[in-house]
Amino acid sequence: MSTPKVVTFHYTLKDSKGTQLESSFGDEPMSYLEGVGQVIPGLEDQMHGLNKGDKKMISVKAADAYGEVEKDMIVQVPRAQLPKKDIVVGDQFHADSGNGHVQVVTVTGVNDTHVTVDGNHPLAGQDLNFDVEVVDVRDATKDEIEHGHAHGPGGHHHH
Ligand code: ZN
Repeated sequence: MSTPKVVTFHYTLKDSKGTQLESSFGDEPMSYLEGVGQVIPGLEDQMHGLNKGDKKMISVKAADAYGEVEKDMIVQVPRAQLPKKDIVVGDQFHADSGNGHVQVVTVTGVNDTHVTVDGNHPLAGQDLNFDVEVVDVRDATKDEIEHGHAHGPGGHHHH
């Protein structure tokens, strides 16, 4: 089995209409360890095999990005069950998803008796476009492989 790679890259993320959502240019580049799901699958698949200095435009369908919007993740909660009284659209809460994981939910609607909360990722259902520039590709260190994530430049521990 060959050593997995750690890929460091800059990216600009745009939605399907071309609106910029995020960019790492001018900031710290992002690093990921291949094969562990540190970045969305559609991005990792299309970056596989790129070399230092390569630039690529990558389109990722929603299903290979943050998934489709799941209707059963959008629920109505009686206001009385929520700890906070003054709730507005856009508020975010940490909620117990019932299987031991904590998820972030976003308030998408409020009326007199109920609050609508959406547990989908904010980018669920969206096709995404990335402009990537590969800063570095190197073999993962033993620590990184054991930890299952990328460390800083050169594999130095930074957490
Ligand atoms: Zn670590």
